[in-house]
Amino acid sequence: MSKRDYYEILGIERNASSDEVKKAYRRLAKQYHPDFNKDDTEAENKFKEIKEAYDVLSDPQKRDYYDRFGHSATNQGGPSGFEGFSGAGFGGIDEIFEQFFSGMGGMGGRRRRPQGPEQGDHLRYDLEISLEEAFHGGKKTITIPRTETCPDCDGKQTRSPEGSETCTSCGGSGQQQYTRSTPFGRFVSMQVCSNCRGEGKIINDPCPNCNAQGRIVQERKIDLDIPPGVEDGSRLRVSGGGEAGLRGGPSGDLYVVFRVRPHKIFKRKGSDLWVEETISISQAALGVEKEVPTIDGNATLRIPEGTQHGTNFRLKGQGMPHLRGSGRGDLRVTVKVNVPKRLNQRQKELLEEFAYLSGEEVGVESKGFIDRMKDAFSSG
Ligand SMILES: [Zn+2]
Ligand SMILES: [Zn+2]
Repeated sequence: MSKRDYYEILGIERNASSDEVKKAYRRLAKQYHPDFNKDDTEAENKFKEIKEAYDVLSDPQKRDYYDRFGHSATNQGGPSGFEGFSGAGFGGIDEIFEQFFSGMGGMGGRRRRPQGPEQGDHLRYDLEISLEEAFHGGKKTITIPRTETCPDCDGKQTRSPEGSETCTSCGGSGQQQYTRSTPFGRFVSMQVCSNCRGEGKIINDPCPNCNAQGRIVQERKIDLDIPPGVEDGSRLRVSGGGEAGLRGGPSGDLYVVFRVRPHKIFKRKGSDLWVEETISISQAALGVEKEVPTIDGNATLRIPEGTQHGTNFRLKGQGMPHLRGSGRGDLRVTVKVNVPKRLNQRQKELLEEFAYLSGEEVGVESKGFIDRMKDAFSSG
């Protein structure tokens, strides 16, 4: 069963604001929450679906992945990239509303830790290949620009060990406490440290190579191993192939999305290839053995006598390799019977004789202008 679109589940537009996402979820959660629908499996499943859609669409990063990769991001994203993506299980009704009031805390989103290591962003690369390349698979090298840890300072933003010092304003936490007194009482709030802008340290001797960013943009060659049988939209994850991490964090991943160009003669449906083969009326009536093209050569197709126009034949194992598992799909040949447009005298005579033997009436008399007018005006 195919998964429903998250936007559809929440009944919102694709460009819905985070506020609209929240509102839609609140409305549906109240309606379907198991606490209000005791022993109603349908409502429970519906609620799970709603919760999952909300978990993804309420998180900007997950929503971005979902918009770009669809459900496949949730199903085959691999172990690391999309952890916690599908919302398994759910808490009581209190939990849901607590989340709204505590500003989405604990929703599994990436929280900003000013000083801690941060994983680099994931990258996406669309790679266009031919059907033949998809058939054979193999090695391919792509060049992508991506940020990498600065080799001069090793990401430390400064080249000398004493080139940076812990921020004295925040003690390295990157955050400062502010206290405000109002008629209603004293309010304490945390804000990003203005002295170090949340970095937790002050750079005195900035690395000139990366301008104290710790990362530089570089063109990088990446070798891909394309599995035979990739489909249009198949994704290949290159672990660590994305943007460099910050402050010692791991790199993001690179997602290569395959775009398989339409082929001149073959149409692909899953692992099967479809092709059309034209034969004459005599070949259709008497049968013929025909060489038909396959993706990697030719094959002989036995067309028996009396084959009808539109008949489909299957050549086992002549299709695309199965992406998962072994073996190949089939080649499906649809036969088109071609009726000759022009016949010479002898061919005409033979066909007339054939018609005579079959007891068929053939031939069209050429009509004069008056007859054609009569035809045009008589409707019954
Ligand atoms: Zn540097
Ligand atoms: Zn500071």
